[in-house]
Amino acid sequence: MGPPKKRKPAGQGELREVEIQSSNGDTSTERKLSRQARWRQRNPIAAWCHSATASAIRRGIIERQPCEVCGDPKTDAHHPEWKTPLFCQWLCRKHHKAAERELKLSLKCEAVS
Ligand SMILES: [Zn+2]
Repeated sequence: MGPPKKRKPAGQGELREVEIQSSNGDTSTERKLSRQARWRQRNPIAAWCHSATASAIRRGIIERQPCEVCGDPKTDAHHPEWKTPLFCQWLCRKHHKAAERELKLSLKCEAVS
């Protein structure tokens, strides 16, 4: 068993939303979209990563898993590295946030040392 092969997404013509279940209290779809669009502009690699992940799920290359920490079936793909969309952790909203926070801390530590 080796590491999974990195695959480039076949077609970039149609960038569809990543199939992540968001169940936050965001009521304004318009505001949510524009915020997401801004985020995509700021983080093109992350946006590509999410599209690649959604595509990989659709093609059966990867499978959505329950949260690694608490087993919650509602999960997001958490990417420690956006450049490798196939390497993701499945985390529920709560633990995804915690992981992002930890990632930022560890990046900070790396920058210091
Ligand atoms: Zn969890």
